[in-house]
Amino acid sequence: MEWCLSMPKVELHAHLNGSIRDSTLLELTEGLVGKGVIDISEVEHIIKKYNRSVAEVFKLFDLIHILTTDHETVTRITREVIEDFASENVVYLELRTTPKRNDSVGMSKRSYVEAVLKGLRSITSVDVDFIPHCEDSKSLFSSVPAIGHVRKRIYVRLLLSIDRRETAEAAMETVKLALEMRPFGVVGIDLSGNPSIGDWATYLPALKFAREQRLYVTLHCGEVPNSVEIKNMLDFRPQRIGHACHLEDEHWRQLKSSKIPVEICLTSNIRTLTIRSIEVHHFGDLYKAKHPLVLCTDDSGVFSTSLTEEYKFAADSFGLGRREMFELSRNAIEYTFADSKLAILFRSVPYPRLKSVVEKKKE
Ligand code: 5GP
Repeated sequence: MEWCLSMPKVELHAHLNGSIRDSTLLELTEGLVGKGVIDISEVEHIIKKYNRSVAEVFKLFDLIHILTTDHETVTRITREVIEDFASENVVYLELRTTPKRNDSVGMSKRSYVEAVLKGLRSITSVDVDFIPHCEDSKSLFSSVPAIGHVRKRIYVRLLLSIDRRETAEAAMETVKLALEMRPFGVVGIDLSGNPSIGDWATYLPALKFAREQRLYVTLHCGEVPNSVEIKNMLDFRPQRIGHACHLEDEHWRQLKSSKIPVEICLTSNIRTLTIRSIEVHHFGDLYKAKHPLVLCTDDSGVFSTSLTEEYKFAADSFGLGRREMFELSRNAIEYTFADSKLAILFRSVPYPRLKSVVEKKKE
């Protein structure tokens, strides 16, 4: 576990509210139980369950969203989630979240994203870089006196998610918001939400507009069997897809020839029984085929995992050694939606040294 923990890692598929700390989830639940807003007997079994089906996972998200509807909580969770990723040596994080409107607390999609940005700014325990081009490579590499304690640095970029329950208009609002927030590190759009709900074609105008405006697009694809949707999503040629669990032979052929990178979420897929067992997980086949892959957590809070554990899980399950795991992590840099300057910077460092280069020594 030690080398998986210490190795620099790149996380490209993490949902903000799914990455909530257990302790925060319980604290917020108790707060609302105390106020009589929710009945603990109705939610206890959802919170405490270990293996949740896809439907139960989305029930838990409904509960989490009841708990996290105000700006302060969104800010707090953002801060905690980033601190947690930084603490396990994630050097680059693409964090995704669905901008939400909640009239009862005066929250608009815009003010939701502002609360996320406030969370990014409020972190003091690690250095957070979230505004593209805010630093040139020179200042990153300039060596600070090698005394005192080491401060970790994490590069964070944001993706705004469209939830499959939303209308086409709400999706378009999210894309326009992403464009507005681009100067603050929003780099792309994700389509997620319960895969059994809605029709992805509803969001095509918004997704096409995002692409025209040079926002990156990633789609949750093939979480449930839906041959037509999977084919249409692959035809759309997003820059990445997430999960890719229920692809059929012709889809695998199309995916492999397209070289669209796949965000792999092992624990999530196993816990939700989307994939029967780790032995038959498509990671093995895609890895052998040298298909672009990136290991991700999906929802570290909901699935009680971490990126370190995902790396360990992959290494143990597929017999991969340190060198292969380092390579897997380094290759992930190629699939980020980061500005080219940052990508070049990351590429220019011998990968095992990346962590120490990114960290800053403080006097
Ligand atoms: P949020 O966007 O509120 O920060 O993060 C939670 C949301 O992300 C969920 O309500 C859901 O829309 C989306 N999400 C999280 N995990 C998954 C997943 O495994 N599959 C899909 N399709 N959506 C997910």
